[in-house]
This record gives sequence, structure tokens and C-alpha cells, in this order.
Amino acid sequence: MRKKLLLGNWKMNKTRPEAKEFALGCGEMVEYAVANNIDVGVAPTFVCLSSVLENAPKNLIVSAQNVNENASGAFTGEISIPMLQEIGIEWVILGHSERREYNGETSEKCNLKIKALLAANMIPVYCCGESLATFEEGKTKAFVEEQIKTGLQDLTPEQVRKVVIAYEPIWAIGTGKSATKEIAEDTIGYIRSVLRSLFGEAAEDVRILYGGSVKPGNIAEYMSQPDIDGALVGGASLTLDSYKGLIEGLVK
Ligand code: PEP
Repeated sequence: MRKKLLLGNWKMNKTRPEAKEFALGCGEMVEYAVANNIDVGVAPTFVCLSSVLENAPKNLIVSAQNVNENASGAFTGEISIPMLQEIGIEWVILGHSERREYNGETSEKCNLKIKALLAANMIPVYCCGESLATFEEGKTKAFVEEQIKTGLQDLTPEQVRKVVIAYEPIWAIGTGKSATKEIAEDTIGYIRSVLRSLFGEAAEDVRILYGGSVKPGNIAEYMSQPDIDGALVGGASLTLDSYKGLIEGLVK
């Protein structure tokens, strides 16, 4: 049985005091989630990671939004896996469509990062998803399949069990225009079938999230689908009220 997961992607939002305020205020809702067998977390910016870790309940997953695959060296502006581990971070989001678009992150690059994270015993959250043009051409499945095959290349079934996948159609991210639960399930079910063909029964243990304008009012719809194991949420994860609403929707 796959455990439900809610992960808030804060993107480039919140100063340290704002992040700390959230961390201090989320205790009760995190306990409620844990009592209902749900994993919950947030992905703050690098500068806020320590503050959230220090002020939030231990059960709140704190994820980075990116990492470099090299352990150290001449990579100005980058952060390494040992640096994240040293402050206690175990989760990292990779391949978010915004990083693919603005920072040239490719599936090949994500593959290197995923392998480096797994070697360090950390958990990659690998994002995939198509543009509006690809969706309208009816090529979503072929596009996402390529992202999955490239991003997860050379992994063993044992390793893939530790990876979380987030399917996020780009046309639904931050637009208020969410995919219907049927569209999300159709693609996520397909992703699981691709995983099955690559990794056999390990595919049944991989958590696959939907992301794209998920809100307290629509999260339960997605969770009613057999292959959707949770949500990666941007805008609606930023306030305590809204985050609480997301958890309540997951518990339904
Ligand atoms: C995201 O950033 O991953 C995301 C899905 O954003 P939003 O929920 O705001 O669409």
C-alpha cells in the first residue's frame, strides 16, 4: 500500500522569518496528517531550509528544490548533496518544469542527480509533464514516457522504489487551470505502466503525485483515483490555512 504524500513547493517565496512562522504554526496539522498515515512536507528555498528544519515538527519532510550532482568544485551558485545532508535534508525536487525552462535542466541531467541522490541515500522527487502544445497535439504520453525513461535510466528496481514521481502538466502549473482527475489519472496510470515495463513489480511501490493548480477544494478528487498517491502543490501550499485545507482534503 503506497502512503499518501503532500509536498508543498514554495518556489522562490518566503523570507526566513516567513518560513519560520509557517514552521512554527504547522505542528498540529502535521500531527493530524501523521495520525492519518499521510506524509507531508514543504520545499523551501535553500536559505530557509535550516530555519524550517529547526522550527517545524520532526515529522514535516523538508525538501530542497534542486541540487548539483557533483560533491564539490567550481560550480558557482550551486549546492551539493553533502551540503544538504550536513544540515539534515533528505529530499530533493528535480526537473521541475520551471527549472527545465529557465535553467536548462534536462532529463539527462536529472538522471545524474537522481543517481547521485540515491547513492547518498536521499529521496529524489522527479518532475515530468508536457506543454500545452504537446497536450493539444495528443502527444502527452510519448513525451512523458521519454522523460521517465531518460530520468530513471540505469536504476535498479530497488532504487526506483525510493523515487517519487510528480506528473505536472506545464499548462496547469500556476495557471489555475488544473487537469481533470480523469486526465491526471490517465497519464499517471500510463507512467505506472511504463515503470512496470522497466522495473516490474517495483512500479507498484512508486509514489506518483499530481501537480498543477491543486487546491484544498480539488485535492480530494485527485486522491479518489487509483494511481494518484498525492500532490505536489505550489501556490496553495504557501499559507497555513490553505496547507491545512490540503491535508484535510487528503484525509477525506
Ligand atoms: C508546482 O510548483 O509544482 C505547482 C504545481 O504549482 P501550482 O500548484 O501553483 O500550480
